[in-house]
Amino acid sequence: MLSIDSDPIVAIATAPGRGGIGVVRISCGRGGEAAAEALMRALCGQTLPPRHASYVAFVDGGGAVLDRGIALYFPAPHSYTGEHVIELQGHGGPVVLQLVLQRCLEAGKAFALRLAEPGEFTRRAFLNDKLDLAQAEAVADLIEASTEAAARSAGRSLEGAFSQDIRALVDEVIALRMLVEATLDFPEEEIDFLEAADAHGKLAHIHERLDRVLIEARQGALLREGLSVVLAGQPNVGKSSLLNALAGAELAIVTPVAGTTRDKVAQTIQIEGIPLHIIDTAGLRETEDEVEKIGIARTWGEIEKADVILHLLDARAGVTAEDALIAARFPTGMPVVRVLNKTDLTDVGPEVSRLVAADGDSGICEIRLSAKKSEGIDLLRAELLRIAGWQAGTESVYLARERHLIALRAAREHLSLAAEHAELGNRSLDLFAEELRLAQEELNSITGEFTSDDLLGVIFSRFCIGK
Ligand code: GDP
Ligand code: ZN
Repeated sequence: MLSIDSDPIVAIATAPGRGGIGVVRISCGRGGEAAAEALMRALCGQTLPPRHASYVAFVDGGGAVLDRGIALYFPAPHSYTGEHVIELQGHGGPVVLQLVLQRCLEAGKAFALRLAEPGEFTRRAFLNDKLDLAQAEAVADLIEASTEAAARSAGRSLEGAFSQDIRALVDEVIALRMLVEATLDFPEEEIDFLEAADAHGKLAHIHERLDRVLIEARQGALLREGLSVVLAGQPNVGKSSLLNALAGAELAIVTPVAGTTRDKVAQTIQIEGIPLHIIDTAGLRETEDEVEKIGIARTWGEIEKADVILHLLDARAGVTAEDALIAARFPTGMPVVRVLNKTDLTDVGPEVSRLVAADGDSGICEIRLSAKKSEGIDLLRAELLRIAGWQAGTESVYLARERHLIALRAAREHLSLAAEHAELGNRSLDLFAEELRLAQEELNSITGEFTSDDLLGVIFSRFCIGK
């Protein structure tokens, strides 16, 4: 492959800061046996037995002890990267780790040892077939998981659950392609042959299976990405109070003076493991105050970017002319929940109702609740889950990314086109075969077969250093 993928690399693998243990990791590059041996001697004063923990002194060029700790040697291919790997586990202080790191660079100079880029260890694991691309992505997702459910499903993806399902799909597509391509050589028999082999049934089966994977992946993507929810409404209707009620903590500044939430306050909470990024905003109103105007302009920016808008109103006033003006400016097609807050000051308690819009179907949901008394918050949580498309009870999802969903949807599209080309009457076996090939290509891109270097660059650059 690329030459950059064959240099020896080194990085501090543990998080910055102080901790009991700090790890410096070296991957010795393609055929890095000589480098591995030289580095072990220079750093630990000895060569290390494979896969055994050795308690050694890490020494500098003059033989002075920098730290003492555990050193491990994983000869290729039985290592994380598939190359010769040396791991030095010393004390977790930033300065001592830097000393050990500098010492590694100095000792490895002759072999062009250099600092690893973000994700470079995992990139090598991928290039050396230790992990496929979906699993490599799961490594980053596991590290970054913001909820327990996300971490568990990233673990499943890392174990290969997602990749296995994709591979099974690819196998079925390949089997069908072989059948169709064999038929292409005997055009006069094509109908009987495909009929006898139940090509339609096989295609329908692949379709069904893909749909199941897509549902699970969609759930998984939700666990990873979460939903961005913006609180919008006039000043003083209780936006900050609602954020607090949802978060269950005093977070945003709650004050009876209109126009205090000038800057955005964001908080990530979770509902059934789904991260909800909730953004409190400046109250929307006509104003001459320059600072407030900036806050309001920013609020509209946040609204544009959100997945869901919670439009807060005072239940006592109902929908005022100002509220109607605000609602009219919401981006079309974005889900809106109208929240009538402060029900504790009215005669009617918390409840949900669905309003049918003038055009008949895109109705909006209206929820009456009290942020201050924390009454009716569960109704809102349930509605947010519904909007997110979360299907309760799907325990075993695998963590997936937007990239995977796009590929799965594209594959499904190609399968639908394939089905059309297989229809009697306007059958075109060439196009049938071609759509199957394209579907397979999309599926392969998930696990990283034939993935462009550009895409790999984007994926791995988002990792942390040392992983
Ligand atoms: P924001 O400007 O929309 O963020 O509104 P705040 O959350 O700062 O609330 C404005 C005022 O309304 C504060 O005095 C809150 O205590 C009060 N408030 C908010 N929610 C409720 C509620 O559900 N019931 C009652 N009675 N007061 C509320
Ligand atoms: Zn506020």
